[in-house]
Amino acid sequence: MARYSEHSFYCMRCGRKGIPIARRDSHNHSKHHRKKLWCPYCGMEVNHIECRNDSEVYEFKQAFEAGEYKEEVAQSLAFIQNETNILWS
Ligand SMILES: [Zn+2]
Repeated sequence: MARYSEHSFYCMRCGRKGIPIARRDSHNHSKHHRKKLWCPYCGMEVNHIECRNDSEVYEFKQAFEAGEYKEEVAQSLAFIQNETNILWS
């Protein structure tokens, strides 16, 4: 029988914990895998970082506070923002 464990996802934009997803234990991603999810705090779809255990959560928080994700988030949102600018100009 396959085992499942709950992985948490943290928003790269606001750093808050998103909706956890149950993953099959055999489901293997590299550490800090990105996944685009709806963030209820940001009110938009943002890349989230998958954390499989407490130490990965800790590493995410350290990196978030150091501003390591700011540029990546800005780049992933740039396309949407450009479209909005065209509509409003
Ligand atoms: Zn967010």
